[in-house]
Amino acid sequence: MTHYRPPEGRPVSKHLPFGDRRDAPWYGQSIVSVRQFTRSDLEYVFGVAHEMREMVGRIGSFDLLKGKLLANLFYEPSTRTASSFMAAMQRLGGTVIPINEVHYSSVSKGESLPDTIRTLEAYADCIVLRHPQMGAAAEAARVARKPIINAGDGVGEHPTQALLDLFTIAMELGRYAPSRGLALDGLTVTMLGDLRYGRTVHSLARLLSQFGVTLNLVSPAILKMPEHIKDELDKAGVTWREADSLEAILGQSDVLYVTRVQKERFEDEATYLGVKDAYVVTPETLRGARDEMVLMHPFPRVGEISYEVDKDPRAAYFRQMENGMYVRMALLAMVLGKA
Ligand code: ASP
Repeated sequence: MTHYRPPEGRPVSKHLPFGDRRDAPWYGQSIVSVRQFTRSDLEYVFGVAHEMREMVGRIGSFDLLKGKLLANLFYEPSTRTASSFMAAMQRLGGTVIPINEVHYSSVSKGESLPDTIRTLEAYADCIVLRHPQMGAAAEAARVARKPIINAGDGVGEHPTQALLDLFTIAMELGRYAPSRGLALDGLTVTMLGDLRYGRTVHSLARLLSQFGVTLNLVSPAILKMPEHIKDELDKAGVTWREADSLEAILGQSDVLYVTRVQKERFEDEATYLGVKDAYVVTPETLRGARDEMVLMHPFPRVGEISYEVDKDPRAAYFRQMENGMYVRMALLAMVLGKA
């Protein structure tokens, strides 16, 4: 586990609120990259997420994080990540400062990211940050005394999404149970769409590389998975191959993970228009897939999966969203010293 501890000489807090567990392994840690998570960390997160799911099913909410405050700082649009962090915090009895329109904050006056972070941590116990620049979350974690959770840093990573994606894969395929642990070895996962700019697939590929999986990377030629991530896959001993067509690959896939072409990362619209409809998953497409395959998408979808697919039992994307709340509840409880 890579620790993003607060900078030397700047302790997490001089006055630990009653009940916080300093000895909890993730207490006060920032979550910047999935590279911080070992297999046993993943089992730990999933165990807590599983408990959160049971708890929400039974009683809806409980006051584990009562008195805690989260700042949700979003420099880019978000529906699921922002609202699931809010829901997670509120279901655990905590409260949220939502800053999702930075134009109305001092950012529009030219305030730097470190100053904004130092300000918000004066009020809140934890900051969830989405930013258009790769490396922004790591920069924030370097200056912050309180935990920073990366909710997407440009084309870099989206670690909490990858954790909920992995949790969904494991739950859908019966590959995780608190009593048996996590068993993902042997799976074939196919990633489809914009693998170059899609940060969710960067994080998920890295997480999956800890298991003996096979990865199929299907994309238009200009949207291939970045070389540095393929190098990491090689170092981890992952079997992967690239293709531009889904046909030959779909029937061997346990998971099909579809992504949106990331319009906002293109320099010119013509190039975007040339690739935006490269792949569309329809009921017809799924005829070539296994009965037990899991179809996922981090959303928003903008045409990559047709609406008729939603009633197919393999379509797991709405369950995937719900899992996001449980996993984020687990992460908040962990970094705030309550799990
Ligand atoms: N919501 C995801 C993200 O923020 C996926 C996407 O936008 O396509 O990366």
